Amino acid sequence: MTDCIFCKIIADDIPSAKVYEDDQIFVFKDINPKAAVHLLVIPKIHLDSLDNLKMEHQALIGHMMLKLPELAQSQGLNNGFRTIINTGPDGGQEVGHLHIHILGGKGLARFN
Ligand code: 5GP
Ligand code: ZN
Repeated sequence: MTDCIFCKIIADDIPSAKVYEDDQIFVFKDINPKAAVHLLVIPKIHLDSLDNLKMEHQALIGHMMLKLPELAQSQGLNNGFRTIINTGPDGGQEVGHLHIHILGGKGLARFN
């Protein structure tokens, strides 16, 4: 039994607003959205963070990246979106299961 909340979401032990799922990834709405659209894209296998990736994960990470525009557009983000990956304590990562944030729409502040 895992203590990881995102593994529990994948297993449907914790409910979530699922947006997309395939054999490699699970995508759902952030429970505390920072913009009108705020999705989390996670691998179905547990990976702690970018810090733990190995060459064997190359295809999985490529798959996640290549899905991002389609996922953004599925939420009406037809004019761009923002992606964020927080890594480790100093990177602001709160959940220790690798995830890509997709943010867009109303409420998206300038980042720089
Ligand atoms: P981090 O700070 O680790 O990059 O982002 C973690 C994100 O997960 C946060 O934006 C937070 O709102 C979201 N989150 C934490 N717990 C849950 C949950 O149980 N369900 C959903 N849908 N999102 C969660
Ligand atoms: Zn996990």
